[in-house]
Amino acid sequence: MTSSPHLAFGRNQIAFERNDSAVDPARRDEILANPGFGTHFTDHMFTSTWAAGTGWHDAAVKPYGPFSVDPATSVLHYAQEIFEGLKAYRHQDGSVWTFRPHSNAERFQRSAARMALPELPTLDFLAAIEALVSTDVEWVPGGGETSLYVRPFMFASEVFLGVRPAKEITFCVIASPAGPYFSSGVKPVDIWLSEDFTRAAPGGTGAAKCGGNYAASLVAQQEAIANECDQVAFLDAVDHSAVEELGGMNLFFVYTDGAIVTPELTGSILEGVTRSAVIDLADELGHKVDERRFTVQEWREGVAGKDIAEVFACGTAAVLTPVGSLKWRGGEVSSDGAEAPVTMQIRDRLLDIQYGRVPDSRRWMHRLV
Ligand SMILES: *Cc1c(COP(=O)(O)O)cnc(C)c1O
Repeated sequence: MTSSPHLAFGRNQIAFERNDSAVDPARRDEILANPGFGTHFTDHMFTSTWAAGTGWHDAAVKPYGPFSVDPATSVLHYAQEIFEGLKAYRHQDGSVWTFRPHSNAERFQRSAARMALPELPTLDFLAAIEALVSTDVEWVPGGGETSLYVRPFMFASEVFLGVRPAKEITFCVIASPAGPYFSSGVKPVDIWLSEDFTRAAPGGTGAAKCGGNYAASLVAQQEAIANECDQVAFLDAVDHSAVEELGGMNLFFVYTDGAIVTPELTGSILEGVTRSAVIDLADELGHKVDERRFTVQEWREGVAGKDIAEVFACGTAAVLTPVGSLKWRGGEVSSDGAEAPVTMQIRDRLLDIQYGRVPDSRRWMHRLV
C-alpha cells in the first residue's frame, strides 16, 4: 500500500468556509466539561470528493452540517463505506498531537482497496486531519483522559442503483470531543461469547474497517446486552473455536508467568493500531507477546484454572480495558478484573506517551497544532 507522492489536496488547495453560526465559547466550554462520547461535534468538517477519471477534488474545511442525500445514493443500498478512528490529545503545554496517524492512513488505504474505493494518499489523509483539527483546536479538551475523537470516513455518493464500484465518492472528516471512556475509573467489562453469529469469514471484510462489519455485529451485541454483558467476543467462522476479537476491540490474554497471547492476524481480524502498540510496549516491559491461534477452550480453561491472570481488550476509544467475565449459554468464568496489574501498567505507559508525559522514544506522536 504505497501512497502516491501526489498530494491531492495540499494545504493551499484546501478551501475554507468559516462557520458563521459556530457554537458560542461559553456553550462550548460547557460541552467540553462533560463531552460524553460521539454526541457533540465541532464547528467544521473536512470534505473532498472523488470522481472516476478526475480523482480527488474540491477539498474544503467548511461548516459542520448535514449532507443532502438522494434516496438512490449508492452507499444506502450497497454499503460501500469505510472509516477510521483516532484521537487528538492536548499536552500540558497546549500543543495538540495524534498517535501513529500514518498507521490509520495506511489501514484506510487497505480498507479502501478491499471495498473497491479509491485510495487516499497518506499525506492527504494527514492534511485533512491537520486542517480540521487546527481550525477547531478550541474543541480539543484538556486534562484527564479527554481527547478530540477524529472520524475520517469515505462512502459511495454516486446516485445510481446498479451494482458496481461507485464512480463518485465522498471523503469526510468530522471530530467530536470525548471524555474519559470510564467516567468513574477503569471498570472491567463482561464479555458475551457469540456462538451463533460470526463477524467475519475467510475472504470476507473482517480486516477492513467498514460499517458493514459493525452492522453484522449488532444483533450479537443485543444478545450480549440481554445477557448482562457489555461486549461480544467473536469466534472464527470456520470451526467456531479460535477467538478472533470483540466487535470493535482486539483481545489479549496475560498468563500468570507473564507471557501474553493475542490472536494472530488471519485476514478476518482487524489490525488495531492499539494492538500493535501494546505488543511493543508489553515487550519493553518484559512480557513476550505470542501472536497465535488461541481457542475459546484455552480461554475458559486458562481462566478457570488460574493459568490466565488477566484478559484485556484494546482499541483507540477505550485504550486498554480489563475483561471481568466471559459468559456463554450455560456457563461463565471470571477473571479478577479489578486486579489487573499488567493491563494497567501497559495502559498507563500508553497514556503517558499519548499525553506527552514521557519521552516519545518511538516517535509515535505526530504534532497537529
Ligand atoms: C477499530 C477497530 C479495532 C481497534 O483498532 P484501533 O486502531 O486500535 O482503534 C479493533 N477491532 C475492530 C473490529 C475495529 O473496527
